[in-house]
Amino acid sequence: MNSALHHRPRIAVSACLLGQRVRFDAGHKLDRFVSDTLSKVAELEPICPEVLAGMPIPRPTIQLRSTGQGVRLVQSKNPEVDHTEQMTAVAHEQAERLDGRIAGLVVQRKSPSCGLERVPVSRGKGVPALREGVGMFVKHFSARCPLIPIEEEGRLNDPVLRENFLERVYALDRWNRLPPDDVAGFIEFHASHKLNLMARGSDAYRALGRIVAGVTRATLAERRAAYIPLYMQTLAERVSRKRHVNVLQHVLGYFKKALSPEDKAELLAVFESYRREETPLSTPVVLLKHHLRRHPNAYLNRQHYFRPYPDALALRAQV
Ligand code: SF4
Repeated sequence: MNSALHHRPRIAVSACLLGQRVRFDAGHKLDRFVSDTLSKVAELEPICPEVLAGMPIPRPTIQLRSTGQGVRLVQSKNPEVDHTEQMTAVAHEQAERLDGRIAGLVVQRKSPSCGLERVPVSRGKGVPALREGVGMFVKHFSARCPLIPIEEEGRLNDPVLRENFLERVYALDRWNRLPPDDVAGFIEFHASHKLNLMARGSDAYRALGRIVAGVTRATLAERRAAYIPLYMQTLAERVSRKRHVNVLQHVLGYFKKALSPEDKAELLAVFESYRREETPLSTPVVLLKHHLRRHPNAYLNRQHYFRPYPDALALRAQV
């Protein structure tokens, strides 16, 4: 099955998560999953937005603060020192530099620059902070690069979120490597992700199929522009066990005539055991792949669903 998956996507990472001593206190926030596991299957590019914004190491702490001019990034002890414009400029520069080059961004949670969600927003002395902010860098970067999946290191401890993030990273990497004038490649991209999309419901697959249908060289640029935002948005949806079972049954339909009644019964029992949360997704997928090797099917062999990211990550053993 698909050898192209061995390509290592490039992922930008908050530099402190890789052990770089760039934090306000000259410390780091080394994250073992990022440094030990992710680094084996992806090219990691450390970035520290605060250092890029010219802040020294060590430095006074900064925070998001609610003001009459909206949420600003300011020094905690001296709110007159405002870094909002600098950080916005850094986010725009990095978006310009990294768009199309990286397929994901992993950031440090709760940081007023890098945090993805629930970052404290100060409302002044004696008033409890609101935990509803987005780090100033991530806010402006994601607005410029809406296709790039972004996750916090803490959320990557959740097996389902981790699996979903990596699936999107590898999918965007495949898209980034697709030549923009390749009509056949565009059609194949859609066809080879059919099962990944079906796992999010057949409506999304059909809507994306309508964008691809009848594409020509003349319409390719406009179809691609319509396709990829909807594709990435669709992949971001969490997939329930019920939806995975629908996909597994759909796959079984392709070669059930070739299987013995015992093999079919065994597969259906494994699907059911997965649905009841007694086994992880890897169990039915491995069994289906075993039967696929014995009964090859060109269409199924192209499906990234069976191997959305390198096996070394072993994520489906946990979801
Ligand atoms: S959280 Fe972001 S800005 Fe803060 S030290 Fe880490 S990389 Fe730098």
